[in-house]
Amino acid sequence: MDIRSYISQLNEAQQAPTLQKDGPMIVIAGAGSGKTRVLTLRIAYLMSQGVDAFNILALTFTNKAAKEMKKRIADIVGNSEAKNLWMGTFHSIFAKILRFEADKLGYPSNFTIYDSQDSVRLISSIIKEKQLDKDVYKPKQVLGRISSYKNSLITVKAYYNNPELQEADAMSKKPRLGEIYEAYVERCFKAGAMDFDDLLLRTNELLNRFPDVLAKYQDRFRYILVDEYQDTNHSQYLIVRALSDRFQNICVVGDDAQSIYAFRGANINNILNFQKDYENVQMYRLEQNYRSSRNIVEAANAIIDNNKTKLDKVVWTANDEGPKIKVHRSLTDGEEGRFVASTIFEQKMQHQLTNNKFAILYRTNAQSRAMEDALRKRDIPYRIYGGLSFYQRKEIKDILAYLRLVINPKDEEALIRVINYPARGIGDSTVEKLTVAANHYGRSIYEVMENIDRIDLKLNSGTKNKLNDFVTMVKSFQVINESQDAFFLADHVTKKTGLIQELKKDATPEGIARIENIEQLLSGIRDFIEGQKEVDGARGALSEFLEDVALATDMDNDTGDDDRVALMTIHLAKGLEFPHVFIVGMEEDLFPSAMSMNTRSELEEERRLFYVALTRAEHQAYLTYAQSRYRWGKLVDSEPSRFIEEITDKYLEYLTPAESNYKYKPMINADIFGDVDKSKLRLNKPTNTAPPKWVTDNEPKPDIPIRKLKPMNSNAPVSSGPAMPDTKLVIGNVVMHERFGKGKVLNLEGVGADKKAEIHFEVGGIKKLLLRFAKLDIL
Ligand code: ATP
Ligand code: MG
Repeated sequence: MDIRSYISQLNEAQQAPTLQKDGPMIVIAGAGSGKTRVLTLRIAYLMSQGVDAFNILALTFTNKAAKEMKKRIADIVGNSEAKNLWMGTFHSIFAKILRFEADKLGYPSNFTIYDSQDSVRLISSIIKEKQLDKDVYKPKQVLGRISSYKNSLITVKAYYNNPELQEADAMSKKPRLGEIYEAYVERCFKAGAMDFDDLLLRTNELLNRFPDVLAKYQDRFRYILVDEYQDTNHSQYLIVRALSDRFQNICVVGDDAQSIYAFRGANINNILNFQKDYENVQMYRLEQNYRSSRNIVEAANAIIDNNKTKLDKVVWTANDEGPKIKVHRSLTDGEEGRFVASTIFEQKMQHQLTNNKFAILYRTNAQSRAMEDALRKRDIPYRIYGGLSFYQRKEIKDILAYLRLVINPKDEEALIRVINYPARGIGDSTVEKLTVAANHYGRSIYEVMENIDRIDLKLNSGTKNKLNDFVTMVKSFQVINESQDAFFLADHVTKKTGLIQELKKDATPEGIARIENIEQLLSGIRDFIEGQKEVDGARGALSEFLEDVALATDMDNDTGDDDRVALMTIHLAKGLEFPHVFIVGMEEDLFPSAMSMNTRSELEEERRLFYVALTRAEHQAYLTYAQSRYRWGKLVDSEPSRFIEEITDKYLEYLTPAESNYKYKPMINADIFGDVDKSKLRLNKPTNTAPPKWVTDNEPKPDIPIRKLKPMNSNAPVSSGPAMPDTKLVIGNVVMHERFGKGKVLNLEGVGADKKAEIHFEVGGIKKLLLRFAKLDIL
């Protein structure tokens, strides 16, 4: 088929942006309206109009999305043409560019990319070295703060020039945050390492400081396309602006209603201001949804209508009405899991469906466990996206650390990870001495080790020998790397370092699984080398492999050819679609999250997240919630999410009574019955309550109204509101304490003057407070 026939399958509104060859343009449209499809066909169209693939840059949300797009384009224009397209995430594309240009920024071209584990570990050690309190300077939080500075292009120098920022950090009891930031940047630089945010920050630096480099890439990327533009952060925005400045052939597509990364610095204004940033912007809107049945489209519209901050958009569909959205209540998260698993089981049987037609989406990774347990019991294969990815596992990270050292021996995180693993008698105090010396001389630890005989660190000769042996070993690997491929080297490393022998000592199933993982890694490397042979101009396979691994999003490892139910957070599900979608944990404080209810804008972001979740469904959506679930190690009562209420009833079908009557323990305990055939239950215990398909409790239904949803807090400061008489406090309340800030009530005990509350504070963890003294406001 030629390009024209593909384009003729688009509707008119879709054709217009596809066929506009030049100039700045923005496509704003609701979910499932074909934005990604337009982007894909537009690239094929540009190529059919004589634009060289080499001059096109497409930025996507995952590398997998880029690969799929490339494959579709290859189907239309041919593989040899499509091969030269630059497509990928911001991080992967600009990591490539930075390697070419690294020397300009004082970096080696073989720089390491630190993942967040590396960054957190480095920050922890800086905090320790500076003798700061790690309960105040929590490494992950500190990294989050540094990350947001970097993404706003606030360098260390800019930070020190900005008293307001310093004051804000001092106010949050972190007056020495700037110092940590400075040390962190220095240590990364010295180790020849960039973290994820550096890939964007340094690209900006490169384009700003070197006009000739900017001109080169402007000339190269004459056509730039960005998918999911609503989730770009400031740093990404500036890169796109700079690169497109000369030719102004920039096409961005997005949906303000799906902006869900504000917490990570995404800036919705990038989409809102696009028209101001370029001249003669063509604005396109797509209104027809092709993905979902009408019920889902209309319900999603109803939800997003509750947001005040939004662009007015029409989304309609010509698709069938489809089944109503099914709402299910269960007693516990365990039962919720069993409902989901048995429904998938039944649907598969009834309609001969494969597993990959189903997705289970949740707000937080912790919710996957109950789902996994239930799916396993039903023998339903599944795959979890996100969480700890393959490359984050300890045994894999250990081998990768050795390989990273081969490429860049200055890589401090890699070195510290394996200098004494497997144990070779280089103890913590030696490593500490090396670190101090490295900081003193402004060198890497490895360089200090190379010169160990010339520096007096008061080490005994045995230790010096061990350090020399380590350096010799790394050098021997480097020699092998020059003549052999990455597979040979990796295999050699696992044996020579003693890693595999170490793991073999552990004969438990976990130990065996670790060895299998290593085998999987080795065959992964072999596949990678094979794949490289097809790519023009591929550089040294090992360094390319390591870069791929460092930038792999979990989605990218999905080959898509195995038939499994997909489990993932809603954030990861962006852009994807599935015939059957379960959105689980539809409960207040979980979704919307308790941490995101302080301001209207936070709540609106949660609502957009729900909009994203629901619009992943093509045919059938399920909303499930539990009346109690284990959170923070405690059983916590919960209420249905306000988001369910926001959908008009006509789009919903309640499988269980909507009313909350769990105060009365049911005689038939669903937990005991597990996966028994629910219809039999119904036959034995007829009930007179209307819509539910099956019920677990046959007690007379007490007429208890659903507890009123808490009023939403506006932008008002959270600590306002009257001091609370302690009698009102119930488990599950979110409270504000003058000193500890926001927290959640886990437990209450004692009476009268002795009444105490156990509260989990966001900052500071779990504390027990005597209510007589504690000044708490219920939020
Ligand atoms: P999201 O906002 O979720 O990223 P999107 O706007 O990018 O969605 P696409 O993923 O491009 O939407 O399209 C949604 C679905 O509709 C896809 O399965 C796509 O193939 C299909 N689709 C899009 N346009 C058409 C069309 N004109 N005819 C038939 N199917 C279409
Ligand atoms: Mg899309």
